[in-house]
Amino acid sequence: MYSIAIHGGAGTLTRNQMSPEKEQAYLSTLKESVDKATLVLKEGKSALDAVEAAVRILEDSPLFNAGKGSVFTHTGKHEMDASIMEGQYKMAGAVAGVHGIKNPISMARRVMEGTEHVLLSGEGAMQFAIDQNIAMESEEYFYDELRYKQWQAALKTGSMQLDHTPLDEKKFGTVGAVALDLHGNLAAATSTGGMTNKQFGRVGDTPIIGSGTYANNATCAISCTGSGEFFLRGVVAYDVSCLMEYKGLSLQSACEKVIHERLLSIGGDGGLIGVDLQGNISMTFNTEGMYRAARNSQGFESLAIYK
Ligand code: ASP
Repeated sequence: MYSIAIHGGAGTLTRNQMSPEKEQAYLSTLKESVDKATLVLKEGKSALDAVEAAVRILEDSPLFNAGKGSVFTHTGKHEMDASIMEGQYKMAGAVAGVHGIKNPISMARRVMEGTEHVLLSGEGAMQFAIDQNIAMESEEYFYDELRYKQWQAALKTGSMQLDHTPLDEKKFGTVGAVALDLHGNLAAATSTGGMTNKQFGRVGDTPIIGSGTYANNATCAISCTGSGEFFLRGVVAYDVSCLMEYKGLSLQSACEKVIHERLLSIGGDGGLIGVDLQGNISMTFNTEGMYRAARNSQGFESLAIYK
């Protein structure tokens, strides 16, 4: 059996801001991503290949806050974070604060497979990218007018915004994927541009194994999106796994407990996607919506934005 779930962030445009055309654009990119991952899984490839392929498609779209669509930092740059993990050997790779990288998720995988390290950051990571011939893009590739306006607005108020849309609303456009493959292995991947107007080398939960991403064949694979500081403090992805492993909770109950109780109790908003060894899928969030899609080999299909 195989299962795949993807997300494009837990803070969606509100219904009244969402035009039918925009909605269509979001849904068709999500569909493209989940279609691709399904194909990879059907071919008998690994969950790791599937989550990487799904995330690359979302990174290549300007709609989501990752890769091409990454938000502007305080100094007008794009600093991206990403991580990937597989559940069999619990190998993981991650990058933080990298710039100009076309697909940070593939760079995270290279860190996992090509080094003895888990997390590379900043200029050292950039040197690694150059040495490894990781695909790069120019500044213009990452330019987006909407993101630019949001940055300008955030600069005026001096605030740091969780993703890209109007200032009075919280948006999280991080992308992620979780999968179970035909060989019974789990994997998770998450990629983000972080927060608009972020400064001081701010890093969120996305590249932190256990907070934004986690995979363990004994429990589940999880990818998170939301206010990163709270997901870090809540060690959210690992917390779901622990509730399953130590308390025997089902994937769905564990996700609900973490998102609707524990995260809320410290003031955090956002959501996550998860898959377990039986192929069960959870897509749980405490925001108005979460861009999301899922499939499994039993015919389950989901493609949705709002509750
Ligand atoms: N979790 C991400 C971060 O804090 C933001 C998001 O999910 O959009 O960097």
